[in-house]
Amino acid sequence: MSDDVIVHQYEAVVVGAGGAGLMAALHLAQQGVSTAVVSKLYPTRSHTGTAQGGIGAPLGSVEEDHWEWYAFDTIKGSDYLADQDAVDIMCQEAVDCVYFLEHMGLPFDRTPEGKILQRRFGGHTRNYGEGPVRRACHAADRTGHMILQTLYQQCLKRSVTFFDEFFLTDIILTEDGPPPSCCGIVALEIATGRLHVFNAKTVLLATGGFGRIFKITSNAHTLTGDGCAVVWRRGVPLEDMEFYQFHPTGIYRMGILLSEAARGEGAYLINDLGERFLQRYAPTLMELAPRDLISRYMYLEIKEGRGIGGKDYLYLDLRHLPRQVLDEKLPDITDFVRTYLGLEPAREPVPVQPTAHYAMGGIPTDVYGQVLWDEIGRKVNGLYAAGECACVSVHGANRLGTNSLVDILVFGRRAGLHMASWCREQGWVPLPDNPQAFTEQILSQLLKTNGTERIGRIRQELQEVMMDQAGVWRTGDGLSQALDKVRSLKERLFHLRLDDTGRLFNLDLLEAMELTYLLDCAEALVVSALNRTESRGAHYRDDYPERDDANWLRHTLVRCSGWRLGSADHKLEFSYKPVVITRFQPAQRKY
Ligand SMILES: Cc1cc2nc3c(=O)[nH]c(=O)nc-3n(C[C@H](O)[C@H](O)[C@H](O)COP(=O)(O)OP(=O)(O)OC[C@H]3O[C@@H](n4cnc5c(N)ncnc54)[C@H](O)[C@@H]3O)c2cc1C
Repeated sequence: MSDDVIVHQYEAVVVGAGGAGLMAALHLAQQGVSTAVVSKLYPTRSHTGTAQGGIGAPLGSVEEDHWEWYAFDTIKGSDYLADQDAVDIMCQEAVDCVYFLEHMGLPFDRTPEGKILQRRFGGHTRNYGEGPVRRACHAADRTGHMILQTLYQQCLKRSVTFFDEFFLTDIILTEDGPPPSCCGIVALEIATGRLHVFNAKTVLLATGGFGRIFKITSNAHTLTGDGCAVVWRRGVPLEDMEFYQFHPTGIYRMGILLSEAARGEGAYLINDLGERFLQRYAPTLMELAPRDLISRYMYLEIKEGRGIGGKDYLYLDLRHLPRQVLDEKLPDITDFVRTYLGLEPAREPVPVQPTAHYAMGGIPTDVYGQVLWDEIGRKVNGLYAAGECACVSVHGANRLGTNSLVDILVFGRRAGLHMASWCREQGWVPLPDNPQAFTEQILSQLLKTNGTERIGRIRQELQEVMMDQAGVWRTGDGLSQALDKVRSLKERLFHLRLDDTGRLFNLDLLEAMELTYLLDCAEALVVSALNRTESRGAHYRDDYPERDDANWLRHTLVRCSGWRLGSADHKLEFSYKPVVITRFQPAQRKY
């Protein structure tokens, strides 16, 4: 190993300090496992901290509720692609996770009697679809902020070791198998540019989503799909990448999120004629229909010329809500409207458009967070994934609001506990020679100085083509164009030129690495979307507008072999995993 590389040894290494990573780390530390958290961001800057509206749990503290109702809503919301065994686990364990956070000090909003207050959210119903139910627990519209602060404090208390501003570049797999075993990771220390190798008995990837492949997104600049791309390069498949959720209410042109909590508290969506147009499409749940459908209906209204002033946006109308609701239940989002648009939401309607929001797909796992190597369920020993980068799959083809926060907590905890027992049972797998070699090769290629292509330019072209061809409305032709484009952008990476070629705090280098990750995620998404010749959940194809259960009630796995930086001549291969169906047979979705 070259002298410059620093080697660490921890029983468990968690990559990512969002809700999923911290929940796992906390449970590992509670079990006495030596645990390191490696994060490219300072932990409390993780995207979980921006989650606004709430976390689902059938507490029934405001009105009657049951986990079976919650499971039904989640499965129907998923367009019947979610694995029903995993959904049952999530909906049952949600209650315990919310109480766990409460006991750790999370300041939830309360009812007058002191119970956790709950509000309505899209697709959450009472008694299997009869009408809305109050299921979202919240702390104003800053729920994720409170979750992240609470978990971070607890991790510090438990002496979890944090490596902040360390950037994951690779996972270390053994040559045996298949399936291989994972014995650590490689990371770049951002401040110094030095490489660190972490030898571990278990590794958890909890690196979040990849919304930045799209032009209009609610996602932070840092959500570039790093974990998904790193494993994909190493031959681990990605699951259901074609299912990407657009949230109906992003601030027009900016994509900044106005939480579904606004509609949960009673806000309307209106078109140019002032109509609540959802009357036409989802007469029972109206503004509380699931996101995939509302985003598509908004697209239709705009296409038929009823966007505001004939343009490509609609209005979110909060004017009829009591002042107290705006101030106490929705303080942050009303502030965003004032700050970013200069509008007063109590008096003026707010221009909105669908914004790229959430990846349903990702790294395939079982219900303990163990990463799957193939469709028959063999596992990559010692490797785990949880949170938005993972696909277990509880969201299927479309996630319900509040269900990501539940997912990260429930499956973050399950992964942490399973990793702890793995550490007790398993010995150390020695590191192979030169585990950092692949990273060094990529970095040196990016840092060479004779290129002409610019990072910003390639990223912009990627985001535009993805927004136009792989967003809410897709066609085979459009997806083929997008695939050609993504592949040509990948080839252009070969000629990249960075302004900064030094080692210390080289943000150009990080942006270049993130761009390579974005391109991998985009390619996996587009090929999977092109391959799936039906419409289901968030994946809508105008050339195949119907759901096709006979052929497509199954999960996509796409695997890459022969990956090289600056090239598009690797091989892609599809395989399929059956959907686990227990109690709820696929039925037509009506709201
Ligand atoms: C604006 C907004 C509002 C939302 N509101 C809600 C809501 O109300 N309810 C709900 O259920 N869901 C909501 N969501 C979705 C939900 O917040 C996220 O899906 C969830 O928080 C993801 O958590 P995570 O732990 O998987 O990842 P994140 O919180 O995104 O954390 C990712 C972590 O990975 C680290 N990381 C990434 N790449 C690397 C790398 N290369 N090296 C080292 N570390 C790396 C980062 O530093 C970070 O710590 C919202 C999302 C957004 C964008």
